[in-house]
Formats: sequence, C-alpha cells, structure tokens
Amino acid sequence: MQGSASERWSALTSQIPARVRLLAVSKGHPALAVRELAGFGQQAFGESRLQEAVPKQSELADLPLEWHFIGRLQKNKVRGVVRAFPVIHSIDSWSLAERVSRIAAEEGRTPELLLQVKLRPDPSKGGWSETELFDVWPRLLSLPSLRIRGLMTMAPQGLASDERLRLFRECAALKDQLELQECSMGMSGDWREAVTAGSTWIRLGSALFGPRPASLPG
Ligand SMILES: *Cc1c(COP(=O)(O)O)cnc(C)c1O
Repeated sequence: MQGSASERWSALTSQIPARVRLLAVSKGHPALAVRELAGFGQQAFGESRLQEAVPKQSELADLPLEWHFIGRLQKNKVRGVVRAFPVIHSIDSWSLAERVSRIAAEEGRTPELLLQVKLRPDPSKGGWSETELFDVWPRLLSLPSLRIRGLMTMAPQGLASDERLRLFRECAALKDQLELQECSMGMSGDWREAVTAGSTWIRLGSALFGPRPASLPG
C-alpha cells in the first residue's frame, strides 16, 4: 500500500464517477483513522462487527458520520445493529428480514436495507439466488418499518476480471428489474468492474486504509 491516507483518498476519489458513492470500510482500523478520513470529507463508513463498531461510533459521536452495517448479521445482534446503523447491506434471508422489521418497529426505526444476493456458487458467503429473491419479493415488500433500497453482492475469490464484470452486470440488471435504486458492489480488488457495471456504492477498505490486521475475519 503506497502513500499517505490523504494521497490514497485523493487518488481514489478522483477516479470514482460522481454517481457512485464511496463507503469507507473501517473494520479493523481505529477511530483515529476514521477521524482522519472524515477530515478529508468522507462521511459514510462501513463496519462488519457490532462489538467493534459501537465503541468506535461513540468515540466519533462529535462527527456527522453515516454508518452502514456490511457484515454477516447474526440474529442476536439485530437489535444492536438496528440501533447503531441506519443502513444495512447484508440482509440475506427471509427470517433475518422479518426479524429486522419487527425489531425496527419496536425501536421506532426505519432502516434502509440492501438485500445480499449470491449470483455465483460461493460456500463462504450468504445471499439470495435470483429465484429465491423473486419468490420472497412480494412478502419482503409487505414487511413494515423497512426501506428496501437495493441489492448488495460480492464476487467469489478467483473470478477473472471479465467474469466479475458479467456478475456485476447481472446484479445491476436484477436491481433494475426490481425497480430498486442502489447496487452495493465493488471492493478494493474489483471496484473498477463494479463501477463499469453500474454500482452505486463501492465498499473500499484496504485501498483506503491500508491492510487490515490478518486476524480480522471477513
Ligand atoms: C471487508 C469488506 C469490504 C472491504 O474489503 P476490501 O477488500 O478491504 O476493500 C467490503 N465489503 C464487505 C462486505 C466486507 O466485509
């Protein structure tokens, strides 16, 4: 990873088209690193573990940041995540959507949700297939207290660039078919293909912050 945080930030933001928003994935990095990036103008930050995010958020409570939850969401963490995150990118099952809806209502929140889809076989990730999503779609729309905004996807490891591009295009087409606005796709290694395919949110961790400690999962 080359250069200072401000050099990485300027180089990346100058390459990202205006229609695409940048989610800075701060998992594994301290509040101080978030504060530094916020100083350059970054507002949206992504975290994947509640227990890591909550203390960081309270250290940064003086800043007008927008927090997105991007990790696998365990049932017993739903209430905490609904309280701490106005946007959740990783809704990957009916039972999770239903639980988020019920708890959001209890908490008086209306979180924005992205539905995680899995368009290629990948044992390491969750997500709806296209068929499963169409099946559950009318029921999803009927759940109260949710604002379903879009789809999220990740490319499996080891796909060639043209295969990633095809996968991301399929996700963007599915999002259009469902008349949703947002497509959260593209990480440090594949955001260029995702932007070409129509991503509206790219989620960048290491490209912005440098490498994470190796022990941190996902
Ligand atoms: C960690 C993570 C990212 C960022 O990964 P980088 O390769 O560091 O950019 C993006 N999305 C999700 C869901 C993640 O868990």
